[in-house]
Amino acid sequence: MASAAGYSKSVGYSVADQVVGCHIMSTFKKNVIQPILDCWSLLVGLKITGKYFCKPLVTVHYPREVIDDENLSTYGGHIELIGKPKDPAMPKCISCMMCVTNCPSKCLKVVKQKAPKPTPEQEAEWARAEEAGEKVVKPKAPKNPAKFTYDYTLCSLCGTCIENCPAKSLKFSNNIYWVATSREEMHIDLIARLKKQATELSAPAPKGTAQSAVSGKEA
Ligand code: SF4
Ligand code: SF4
Repeated sequence: MASAAGYSKSVGYSVADQVVGCHIMSTFKKNVIQPILDCWSLLVGLKITGKYFCKPLVTVHYPREVIDDENLSTYGGHIELIGKPKDPAMPKCISCMMCVTNCPSKCLKVVKQKAPKPTPEQEAEWARAEEAGEKVVKPKAPKNPAKFTYDYTLCSLCGTCIENCPAKSLKFSNNIYWVATSREEMHIDLIARLKKQATELSAPAPKGTAQSAVSGKEA
């Protein structure tokens, strides 16, 4: 039990002793333990710095150097269309609208093709066949899209459109060096871009040459 003078018979030391003890501990932590922790932190940082200082560089000095093909193949740039194996200028897209529906940023626009307009002769022939009870097979609209545009300024590169495409017609591009000076340039006509890529297939650009996307204006 503590007396009025702050003396504790059960513990055997005064409040003043406790205050002095706390002060000594605080001074010890500040002047001894904290500098040791600081030095340890510095050593850990220097160890990590030294480890990476001795490793080969993983960055390149662009434009004097460019990314090699292996690393470029894993780059996830803007979305682009994939062409058919036999006709690289024709997208595999079947205009199902799954990508448009599932895109959280609403940055894709697909316009379906319309069925070809019948000639007066065809219409007359169909009318005659229907009257005679014959089966009339009218030409259907082509499945590939009439327009496929993409606003890169809105895209979050989430990949949802790629995952949901049943025709496997979309992928991330490796268009790493592309620079645009306006938002409009980032509105890409993906069909025009695919056709341009197909044309360049026969005469590939030199390795690492900067690509350009095809904007809606250019198409
Ligand atoms: S990557 Fe995501 S945000 Fe970009 S177009 Fe595809 S679904 Fe939309
Ligand atoms: S790109 Fe794929 S998901 Fe989008 S409309 Fe074409 S087929 Fe459908």
